[in-house]
Amino acid sequence: MNSPLLPTYARADVAFEKGEGSWLVTRGGERYLDFGSGIAVNVLGHAHPHLVAALTEQAGKLWHVSNLFRIPEGERLAQRLVDATFADRVFFCNSGAEANEGAIKMARRYHHQRGQPERFRVVTFEGAFHGRTLATIAAGGQPKHLEGFGPKVDGFDQVPFGDHEALRAAITPETAAILIEPVQGEGGLRPVPPQCLRGLRELCDERGLLLIFDEVQTGVGRTGKLFAHEWSGIAPDIMTIAKGIGGGFPLGAILATEEAGAGLSAGTHGTTFGGNPLAMAVGNAVLDVVLAPGFLDHVQDMALLLKQRLAELVDRHPAVLKDVRGLGLLTGLRSVVPNTDFVAAARAQKLLSVPAGDNVARLMPPLNVTAAEIHEAASRLDAACSAIEAQAAGAAEGAT
Ligand SMILES: *Cc1c(COP(=O)(O)O)cnc(C)c1O
Repeated sequence: MNSPLLPTYARADVAFEKGEGSWLVTRGGERYLDFGSGIAVNVLGHAHPHLVAALTEQAGKLWHVSNLFRIPEGERLAQRLVDATFADRVFFCNSGAEANEGAIKMARRYHHQRGQPERFRVVTFEGAFHGRTLATIAAGGQPKHLEGFGPKVDGFDQVPFGDHEALRAAITPETAAILIEPVQGEGGLRPVPPQCLRGLRELCDERGLLLIFDEVQTGVGRTGKLFAHEWSGIAPDIMTIAKGIGGGFPLGAILATEEAGAGLSAGTHGTTFGGNPLAMAVGNAVLDVVLAPGFLDHVQDMALLLKQRLAELVDRHPAVLKDVRGLGLLTGLRSVVPNTDFVAAARAQKLLSVPAGDNVARLMPPLNVTAAEIHEAASRLDAACSAIEAQAAGAAEGAT
C-alpha cells in the first residue's frame, strides 16, 4: 500500500464505496456487515435517509458563518441536549479530544474564578482514553501515546482502575476534577460499576471537585440509555460527547451545569468550526431519531440479543474466546487468540469489528441494527472462530 498519507494508522486493505444501514459495500460489490460503525460513530448506520435529507437540505442553504453570529440550529440542538440531560449549557466543537480539552479548561477556570487557581489537577484512571492532543494524551496516560512527544502536559494524576484507596490518596488541595469514562472504550470495554460512579459523585461533592464524564464513546444511546451514566442514577458536572452525536459528521460537545460552566465567559474559549450549521443540522437529525419513543428500548433489546449470541459463541469456542464485555451495544469479546487475529478472521467473513485494549474486539453495530443482522453477525463470528480453530489444528498437525 503506497500512499502519501502519514502512516499513523494500521489500515486494513479494504475501501468502501457506499453504505446502507448496517452494511458497507466495496467498489467490487462485496458487502460487509458493519459492527464497527466507524468506531461507535455511525449510530444510525450508513446513509440514513433522515440524516441524508438534513445534510443535503442544509448544504443548499448555509454551511458556515463562524461563531461571530447566532446559529439558531445550534441553539436548538443545545436546548434539546439540555432538556434531555443534567446540563444547562452546551459548547460545540469538532471532536472528542477537543471536547475533553475544553472540559479540562472549564474545570480549571471554575476553580480559578472561585479564587483557587492552584486547583488545576485532574485525576484520571489507568486504561483511560481521552484523545490524542497533548493534554488528552497526558490525561489518558498511556506510555505508547506519550513517548517521544516531549514533556507530558502537567496536571494529570492517574490511579489504577477500581482502586478506591489510590483515588482518595491522589486527591490533594490542587485537585480540580475527576475525569472518567463510564465504560472504558479503547481500554477494553470495562464498565465502571454504578455504585462506583455514585461513590465518585459523593467524593467530588465532599471535596469540592468537578466530576467530568467522558461519554464520547458511551453517549447518544450506545449503552441503551441516552447517556451511560444514567444507569447509575447520578449526573456529572461536565460531560463530553462526540462520536455518536454527529452520526458520522464530525461533531463534539461539552455539556455542563450552569455552575461548572460559569468560568468560560466571553473570550475565554472558542473554535472556528465548532457548531457550524451543517454539523448542527445533522446533530438535530440524529436526535430526532434517537429521542423518538421506543428507540432506546430497541437498543436495549438488541443489546440483550447480541450479548446472548456472543455468550453462546464463548461457550462454543473456548479455545478462541474468553468472555463477553461491555454494556448495551458497546459490547465485545475478549479473545484467547490475539484480538487483532480475531478481528482479521471476522473481517475475512465480512463482519467488521474494532480492536480495543485488554485483547478485546468491540462489536458496536449501528443502534438501529435489526435482530436478523445480529443473528447474521453471530453466524459470521462463529465461522471466524471455526476458521481460527481449523488453522490452529492445521498448525499443530504440521508440527508433529
Ligand atoms: C474516541 C474517543 C475520544 C477521542 O475522540 P476524537 O474524536 O478521536 O478526538 C475521547 N474519549 C473517548 C472515550 C473516546 O472513545
